[in-house]
Amino acid sequence: MKMHFDVVIIGAGIMGASLSYYLTKLGLKNIALCEQGIPPGNGATHKSGGFIRIFHENEWYTKRAVESYDTYADWGNKIGGSCGFKKTGFSFITDSTRSDQLRANAKKVNRYCSQVSVLSPDEFQQFQPDFSLEGIGAIVYEPNGGYADPAKTALTFIKQSEKKGMKLLEGVKVERILHHRKKITGIQTNIGSIRADKYVVANNIWANFLLEELGLRLPMFKKSIGLGFIEWDKEKSVSHLTSCIDETIGTYFRIFSNYRLLFGVQMSHSGALLQDRSYLDYGDMQIAKEKLVGRLPLLHKAEYLGSRLSFDSYTSDGLPIIGVHPEFDDLYLMVGFNGSGFKIAPSIGLILAREIFHNERMAELNNTRMERFNKQSPI
Ligand SMILES: Cc1cc2nc3c(=O)[nH]c(=O)nc-3n(C[C@H](O)[C@H](O)[C@H](O)COP(=O)(O)OP(=O)(O)OC[C@H]3O[C@@H](n4cnc5c(N)ncnc54)[C@H](O)[C@@H]3O)c2cc1C
Repeated sequence: MKMHFDVVIIGAGIMGASLSYYLTKLGLKNIALCEQGIPPGNGATHKSGGFIRIFHENEWYTKRAVESYDTYADWGNKIGGSCGFKKTGFSFITDSTRSDQLRANAKKVNRYCSQVSVLSPDEFQQFQPDFSLEGIGAIVYEPNGGYADPAKTALTFIKQSEKKGMKLLEGVKVERILHHRKKITGIQTNIGSIRADKYVVANNIWANFLLEELGLRLPMFKKSIGLGFIEWDKEKSVSHLTSCIDETIGTYFRIFSNYRLLFGVQMSHSGALLQDRSYLDYGDMQIAKEKLVGRLPLLHKAEYLGSRLSFDSYTSDGLPIIGVHPEFDDLYLMVGFNGSGFKIAPSIGLILAREIFHNERMAELNNTRMERFNKQSPI
């Protein structure tokens, strides 16, 4: 096969999908999106929890979440179709030792979004009566938070960019990135070689297998993330339940569908041991559920419905690796989303699309560039 594109994107998770959408929106039609599996792929995206929130303790994430929020909330008009967004409100719960810090962070977030406020446990209970208040110091609350459907979101981005000319190459595994000195000369895939003017590595932790060929290694590590599902007594309505991260019990949860709740499960095994599995141990789910019942006593009779196990790529400073590569000016990176990529994907796709389209470094990506790892820290 002989193909030549303006841009080839490797990986059709939420990041590759968002980038392909915004590139075509900017007017680049001759682009290809390679996915080894069936979109939205074999990675984190189709197993993601899909939480949408503005509040982050890191300013860079807050800004990207604010930029992305309007797209999620008005998906039909802005992108077309549905991303499954549900506004449930979002709460970040902490204990009394962290309350002051949380208040200070919420104030910083208010520079970008006035909807985020800090509530006392009593104020919170007025509209969330099912919560036990034990151990709660303060709650950051945002009424507009919620969740969306990550698979639907990625597929809509893909569908809309296909309409504008993007070529989706499904079941196409990029086996090698070819180069001559500091120029990428093509990619080798299971259906032949493909050439492009620019190449984007958006394939999560797998990026390092491909980049080895170029003598590159991104400082990322793989971390497992587990989710459990339970169903509660159908006579009890909890449709008003806020989506929540609860630091005090070390988990997060949200409504999944009628009478079903999705919750975060910490694993007792290391990621390496679990790499070929997509389900969780019962014991780990039990521990997480016990903590959850402490917070939401109405769940004490809830029954297990299943689990999900996946992973994301993490970096030492918690920020992703995005932007043109410092050594190869036709190679772009879009990886390392630290378990937080879904909610910021629209903003990241747009910013990187601009960097590629205009051939100009975007200031928003200054903190996320690969170069930050090369800086010598003073001894
Ligand atoms: C269980 C779980 C819950 C999460 N919950 C949330 C949440 O609530 N909110 C939030 O914001 N974030 C959440 N995240 C994080 C978020 O889902 C990820 O950051 C995001 O999905 C990463 O997207 P990606 O496109 O970078 O990677 P992926 O979705 O992993 O996509 C990479 C794609 O590249 C493909 N690929 C790999 N190698 C090749 C190759 N050689 N050739 C072709 N294709 C290739 C893979 O098949 C894969 O489809 C969660 C993650 C997990 C695992």
